[in-house]
Amino acid sequence: MPPIRMDLLSSLNHAQREAAQTTSGPLLIIAGPGSGKTRVITSRVAYMVDSCGVSPRSIMAVTFTNKAAREMRGRLEQLLGSACAALTVGTFHAICCRILRVDGEVVGLSHGFVVYDDEDQVNLIKQSLQDLKLDPKQYSPRVIQAAISAAKSRLLCEQDHAAGVNSYFEEIVQRVYQRYQSRLSQSDAVDFDDILLKTVHLFQTQPEILDLYQSRYVHLLVDEFQDTNLAQFELVKLLSGKHRNLCVVGDPDQSIYSWRCADLRNILSFEHEYPDAKVVILEQNYRSTKTILGAATQVISDNALRKDKSLWTENDIGKPVVLAECLNEKDEAQIVVATIDKLVQHDGLSYKDCAVLYRINAQSRALEEGLMRFGVPYRLVGGTRFYRRQEIRDLIAYLRVIHNPHDSLSLARIINTPGRGIGQGTLAKLQASASKRDESLYDALREMAARPDLAARASNALGRFLDLLDGLLERSKEIALPDLVAEILVRTSYRGYLMEHDDGESRWENVQELKTVAADYANLAHGEALPAFLEKVSLVSDTDEMNGASDVVTLITLHQAKGLEFPAVFIIGMEDGVLPYRKSFEDPAQMEEECRLCYVGMTRAKQYLFLSRAHRRSLFGNGLANPPSRYLNRINPELITTRGLWGDDGVTVGGAVYAQPLAYGASDDEFRIGDWVHHKKFGQGVVMDCFPDRNDLVVTVSFEDAGVKQLLLSLAHLEKTESFNSLP
Ligand code: ATP
Ligand code: MG
Repeated sequence: MPPIRMDLLSSLNHAQREAAQTTSGPLLIIAGPGSGKTRVITSRVAYMVDSCGVSPRSIMAVTFTNKAAREMRGRLEQLLGSACAALTVGTFHAICCRILRVDGEVVGLSHGFVVYDDEDQVNLIKQSLQDLKLDPKQYSPRVIQAAISAAKSRLLCEQDHAAGVNSYFEEIVQRVYQRYQSRLSQSDAVDFDDILLKTVHLFQTQPEILDLYQSRYVHLLVDEFQDTNLAQFELVKLLSGKHRNLCVVGDPDQSIYSWRCADLRNILSFEHEYPDAKVVILEQNYRSTKTILGAATQVISDNALRKDKSLWTENDIGKPVVLAECLNEKDEAQIVVATIDKLVQHDGLSYKDCAVLYRINAQSRALEEGLMRFGVPYRLVGGTRFYRRQEIRDLIAYLRVIHNPHDSLSLARIINTPGRGIGQGTLAKLQASASKRDESLYDALREMAARPDLAARASNALGRFLDLLDGLLERSKEIALPDLVAEILVRTSYRGYLMEHDDGESRWENVQELKTVAADYANLAHGEALPAFLEKVSLVSDTDEMNGASDVVTLITLHQAKGLEFPAVFIIGMEDGVLPYRKSFEDPAQMEEECRLCYVGMTRAKQYLFLSRAHRRSLFGNGLANPPSRYLNRINPELITTRGLWGDDGVTVGGAVYAQPLAYGASDDEFRIGDWVHHKKFGQGVVMDCFPDRNDLVVTVSFEDAGVKQLLLSLAHLEKTESFNSLP
């Protein structure tokens, strides 16, 4: 037995150390948030390499996001130095992509295949529906895409799926699935699910190739195992089939990706699959204060389908959880901004220590406006992120076509962008011809450009476009990637095209930013830079835009926040209808997941946790009046306060004082901001403001149907009705 370098493990507690030192056989680590699961994974890898003489080449560590993978690699570099380079650390998708680039030919992929993301997929589904003469209004492309994705994550290729069809809808899905796959293969492309499916397929059908990988990877470690789907579990089983040194780490209470077909049963069935598995349970939380941990535990403990865990911490009691009652989403944003400002000015925190978490992307808009108004730097994770912007997608489509002219989806995107006289009609003809002959758009384009029966104008336009492409293709062999991007911009007069739009200037800045990204690849050989760049672009997930270095507030969805931690966390929209989200109301299983989502959010916080809710909220253009989130009721009142944060004076934002709503009038019929009132003509509304004017009071009320009105109290005859404050 090699000498154990205790200093590597000396910072671990007993249970963590036991897990890190169990280096052979199946190992399941189940533990709550902040208990050091991720830390155990990194320590275990370092320990194996440093103290047990395991070759780094034979270790694979899989995580859920690229950001998590980068962090893990960073920590391992600190522990192991250059030995770290030989480790395989990445997401399932990135690792499988690499495998398919090397060995994908036997499952029908070339080395240069492209990866289509969600939006590409939906576009391709639309085209497939068209091919099949099915109306996209009747059959929602998104619903069909979700059905295909669900089939793939259960490892059903189109043939397998056909066998299980037993409804009209499934029949439609089956037809689209087939068409969609053949379109993908015409374009030499895969979607995200295919990356996993095809790798599993490769291993299942090619025992010699599987044997190579099984022999190489003696040790496998998987973080966030509760969010793996069936395909991912199958992959892990296959890869670890020979040595069976498989360590998985997870927390069933944090399973939040069932909508992406994650299967909680994986973690529950692990012991069944591996009866000899050692199980380690970690119970000490190192992340959060006692108060935060207590409040989070109270929220999750009402969930029916869970095993109770005892999680404790030696950390301080800390500050109470703060609940801010806000009038509407604008006030909510202002309160968040004011609080962040206070934390930074008076409590020694930096902007990057603060994160605002929300259930739905659309909630970020009001918040962004608030942050911008007060000049607080922030980074939005998700939403219309960089790589989703139209101008960026255009340029990437050009690069993809230069890399692989048969990528028909990208070709269709750029054929008339910027406009060059190739109309919808011509494109439709091209697509029909490609579809009929089962060839790529590029092949069809070549033929059609040479055809005499085409109107001269159309044929000239097609010819010029082909010349443009061929010219760029030639140049791509000679110049570096950043220059190629510049050349595309010049040859397509892209700047002029952007400037036709109102926001042309900022879009042009985005395009420039892409050049900055491309500059990272300037030193690679010509043949390598473009594919490496495109691979990176296709695999960047939302969290990748986070850059730990700069001092900015993070805005992030609850889903994206898993595995992360921040000194101060704000969860906005603590309302029934937002969290839990209205769409989940009908489904008890979904409701349990909403609760886990809230739990994940709360447990990201180290020192400060702020919750807020708005009496009225505009979302998706609708005015909503949501009751307080049911999760608020679960928190022991001793742990939560609506005052402590801003001191007893409250904080003045937007003219109103929060945390201590102001009251006007006599004690029995006083009106408070947030009170519900009834007006004979305007109906039900909520008091937004109230100030004395001579001998009267001016009350601003936001009515559910009639909008915002200013009324004189003496004339308005407002009646107080049940207020949200008094709801259970
Ligand atoms: P999550 O479920 O949210 O992913 P986790 O179980 O993976 O959480 P980590 O992120 O590994 O938890 O650890 C949480 C925090 O506690 C980190 O800041 C980590 O450095 C710290 N930590 C973990 N174990 C110890 C320890 N033994 N001593 C000191 N700090 C620790
Ligand atoms: Mg973790």
